[in-house]
Amino acid sequence: MLKLNNAPEPAEFAHIRDWVFDLDNTLYPHHINLFSQIDRNMTAFVAELLQLEPEEARKVQKRYYHEHGTTLRGLMMHHQIDPNAFLERAHAIDYSILLPDPDLGEAIKALPGRKFIFTNGTVSHAQAAARALGILDHFDDIFDIVAADYVPKPAGETYDKFTQLKRIDARNAAMFEDLPRNLEVPRAIGMKTVLLVPRNLGDIVIEQWEQADEADPNVDYLTDDLASFLRALQAS
Ligand SMILES: [Mg+2]
Repeated sequence: MLKLNNAPEPAEFAHIRDWVFDLDNTLYPHHINLFSQIDRNMTAFVAELLQLEPEEARKVQKRYYHEHGTTLRGLMMHHQIDPNAFLERAHAIDYSILLPDPDLGEAIKALPGRKFIFTNGTVSHAQAAARALGILDHFDDIFDIVAADYVPKPAGETYDKFTQLKRIDARNAAMFEDLPRNLEVPRAIGMKTVLLVPRNLGDIVIEQWEQADEADPNVDYLTDDLASFLRALQAS
């Protein structure tokens, strides 16, 4: 059974050359709840598009999310929407609730090799969030949903596109994510996989299917403190 581990052995990551980070609920903690703003914007978009009451719109939104990986993908497949209009609306949020995280910045900066953000959001969303956290400058590149041709993680083709475009050898890469299903492909292609879980897990209600299964075979490490986890890798 996998246990919470905020201090991994540096030797186990000594071969890592490329560090891949999901954005939302990974580079900032789950309890910040930035995503709730995006979530509300998506509900409003669906309500207007389909002329539904918010409650009904929310059901459609969540169904597409479950069936297609993102609400956007479902809207594109069933309603042929313009993805850019949707993405702009979804990410029209207040980033000021994200505060600079110098500990995380230092820890990312100190990692040897390249650092990527790999998100089902957009480059502008990733830039805005990472800038607010004060960590944007420590990343070499961002791979987003547009680069993925709107096919979200966890689709295998999107990881292929990402690793080929950025010339990443999965065997020398590590991936950090808050959704277990998004670590399935990385693990299968040889990456080290680290699952971020919320602090005080018991206090936070997470949809059952998103919860970290402690026996999840896709996960090598489980942490609730990314900065501490990365800092431990520097210790030698
Ligand atoms: Mg995430």
